[in-house]
Amino acid sequence: MLKPETFVKRHGFLLVAFGVMLVATLMLAVIQFFAVRRIEAETQAALEANLDLQLYALVNEARRDMYERASYITHSISHARVRDRDTEGLGRAITRATRRYPEIKQVFVAFFERGAETEAWQVFRFEPPDSTNPAVTRYKEIPVGAMIEDMEASKTLREAWLSIPDRSADATYAAFAPISGSQKEQIFFHAVYEPDHLDRLNNLDRVGLLILTADANNYPAPDYLKNLAARLEQKEMSDSSNALAIRIYATETNETDRVFVESSIAPLRTRGFDPNDRLFPNLEFGVAPRHPNGFSDDMTTSFLLGLSATLLALFGLVLTWRATQREWRVAQMKSDFVASVSHELKTPLTAIRAFGDLLASGRTQKPERVREYGFLITAESNRLNGLLNDILEMSQMERGVRRYQFQTQDLRETIEKSVETFRHTSAAKDFKIKTDLPDAAVFAEFDENAVRQIVLNLLANAAKYSNGTKVIETSLRRERDAAIFAVKDYGIGIAAEEQRAVFTPFHRADDANVQNSNGTGLGLAIVREIVKAHGGEISVKSKLGAGAVFSVKLPVGGNDSGIRNDE
Ligand code: ADP
Repeated sequence: MLKPETFVKRHGFLLVAFGVMLVATLMLAVIQFFAVRRIEAETQAALEANLDLQLYALVNEARRDMYERASYITHSISHARVRDRDTEGLGRAITRATRRYPEIKQVFVAFFERGAETEAWQVFRFEPPDSTNPAVTRYKEIPVGAMIEDMEASKTLREAWLSIPDRSADATYAAFAPISGSQKEQIFFHAVYEPDHLDRLNNLDRVGLLILTADANNYPAPDYLKNLAARLEQKEMSDSSNALAIRIYATETNETDRVFVESSIAPLRTRGFDPNDRLFPNLEFGVAPRHPNGFSDDMTTSFLLGLSATLLALFGLVLTWRATQREWRVAQMKSDFVASVSHELKTPLTAIRAFGDLLASGRTQKPERVREYGFLITAESNRLNGLLNDILEMSQMERGVRRYQFQTQDLRETIEKSVETFRHTSAAKDFKIKTDLPDAAVFAEFDENAVRQIVLNLLANAAKYSNGTKVIETSLRRERDAAIFAVKDYGIGIAAEEQRAVFTPFHRADDANVQNSNGTGLGLAIVREIVKAHGGEISVKSKLGAGAVFSVKLPVGGNDSGIRNDE
């Protein structure tokens, strides 16, 4: 295992890069969070402004409908009869109107002198016909109501009329006052003018008023507010770009019957009629989104999305980091390799050059010296040649251009011969090399030179990393359809975490014994490529300090085909 300090030293740059990216990601997440918060605030404001607009439109619509209805009803009663103070005619006209418009509760008529509405003021109340009273007046067989002077109502109505702040602009005015009993009622005043004079703005021509009180439950139509609310809600819902829905609240003391109360949702915005209108001063309209939590849901979704994006970015970061780490390792290995190869090339070259110089100088005359130098130059050249071959071979293998000459032949014999060859190399000096081979030949299809290379490579490693215990054991065993060749030594061994890596090109164990020995880290990579090309596999069993066993498994093609009888 790597010590933490070594890890930090080796990956310092990557750790810093990772830290910087992590901080950047977190900062982005924070910025996003605040952006979402701002959008929420803005959306909330827009939402409320929209609600306000809806409410304004709603209140205006109710106002217009109420005035229009009052004006419409009073126009059905002839204004001339007011001018003429024709109470009998008014009785008949109002009878007709009340029958046609059930939203009327009571009707009054006020007469006064032209322009003197504050002084001479006479009020008549319309008394509906009582069908149970046989003495009731009839007109064309229909019972007719009567106009009766009403002093008490006169006082209240006059006060209500005079309390209207601006009595100059319109024809129809509204007020709110108790006329009979203590309950306040909606009162509409409709002004009647002298027809010849058009100086209405100065109120000089006003000669009377048609006054009606509304039946709260039916004015200006049955369930009027409820329907208004429903209609607006419907409109809001069909508008898909605006997911708002509206509840309408209208509450007023003693008015709960006629208003549309939805107590389960608190209104976000409320509005009443303009106080100058005198239209139901206690009536309130309220709106709220149908799904008050909708926006915070959006907020949560958005935040979760942001969080997943951040996690995804972190995941990508980790992947990038790992990839970079791998690249880094490969680069490190290649540079180690260049250093090691330069060193390996230099040693034999230096020797060759030194002995060459000696010979060229002519100072060495003794024939035995000349021969000795010649041998040394040949040996060093061979070493150089071997090294260059390894490099060329690895590069051929990597490019997939190495060709094999497969032939069915005796594996036992090739191994035996290769071990013998190794025995005569200088590397094998003083080593005890045991061989445990089967009695019969083991026939398989393989490239003889390639298998020789495997054997020599594994033996050379076993000797190189022997750490003083000069014993190497080789064996060949038959299995059902494979042959297993093993090389065992009692040397330095390989740590568990290095065992996979030793087969990768240029890899050399992180061990002083290895680093101080000659080598390029190519041998085992070449062996593995050869084994793979033969359809076999290579493995290692080892414990650090307790030697290693490299096993090469090669297919021999079935039970019988591996053994050929010599005929
Ligand atoms: P080289 O021997 O040139 O370094 P190899 O590819 O032959 O390259 O081996 C790769 C690495 O595997 C060696 O550097 C060494 O760390 C390890 N190794 C190979 N064989 C043995 C062995 N028999 N015992 C211990 N370590 C070994």
